[in-house]
Amino acid sequence: MVKWTGPSLSPTKIKAFKKCPLSYRLQYIDKIIFPSGIEAFRGTVTHAILEHIFDQPKTDRTKNWALDNIENFYNKCLAEDPKANNIPEIDQTDKLFNSISEKIENYFKLENPARLNPTGREKWVQTKINLEDELGKVSEVRLGGFIDRLEEKPGVGTRIIDYKTGKPPKAERFAEDYYFQMFFYSYVYRDMHNEIPRQVKLLFLGGESGVLIKAPTKENLLDFEQEVRDFWKAEQEAEMKDEFQPNKNPLCDWCAYKHKTLNDDGTVKYEGCPIWRQA
Ligand code: SF4
Repeated sequence: MVKWTGPSLSPTKIKAFKKCPLSYRLQYIDKIIFPSGIEAFRGTVTHAILEHIFDQPKTDRTKNWALDNIENFYNKCLAEDPKANNIPEIDQTDKLFNSISEKIENYFKLENPARLNPTGREKWVQTKINLEDELGKVSEVRLGGFIDRLEEKPGVGTRIIDYKTGKPPKAERFAEDYYFQMFFYSYVYRDMHNEIPRQVKLLFLGGESGVLIKAPTKENLLDFEQEVRDFWKAEQEAEMKDEFQPNKNPLCDWCAYKHKTLNDDGTVKYEGCPIWRQA
């Protein structure tokens, strides 16, 4: 396959711009990247276990198999991502393994993998779309990402399943970003297979656990496409004018760019968000 070198979009990238254009610019254009933390690594190990449980014969797809293999997958994920050794909490394995166990326990409250027949796992999907900016310039843009699990049954339809290691949203209004992600993958799948998935299901493995389910419609996908087109116009305009404004929001406390940060050699990596510098 020829490597794609044009612009690429993921649901996370589009939503990042909507939340705060400045943090979007720092992350995706200036590429001021911070090493991923223990939360991300915990997610990687949990996803690896839930991917590979389906390598087992159905009789072995048990909670015990998953719990017994946490350490194996921790070691495997560390070997595949040596930079994770720099995460400060990486050696606190008791705490980490307990927290992964909790997610595995929650997973088994929601599903029994012995009864499932996935047709794809960690599957890369992509499509291309022509997007136009305010000046009429058309760009071919790739929409792509990994689907955690696919279940395709001829004559019945396709289910897309995604694992979330966080808690389920407390209210419908907090679910918007998740729906956007669902429609993103449904849109890409529809373009690839000429079929709208009959269901997209998100499994939340944190806290009380829970699921979000949608049966995407043609109208949902049209709205989604319009949202992508609007995003592209706004993003291209911001690039043209070099105007990526900070947008103070409830997630600022978790933003890596909120405060001044230094490189290992003491030089300034980023001065800190102008909104919070003035505060
Ligand atoms: S701290 Fe808030 S306003 Fe500043 S860059 Fe981060 S998200 Fe944007």
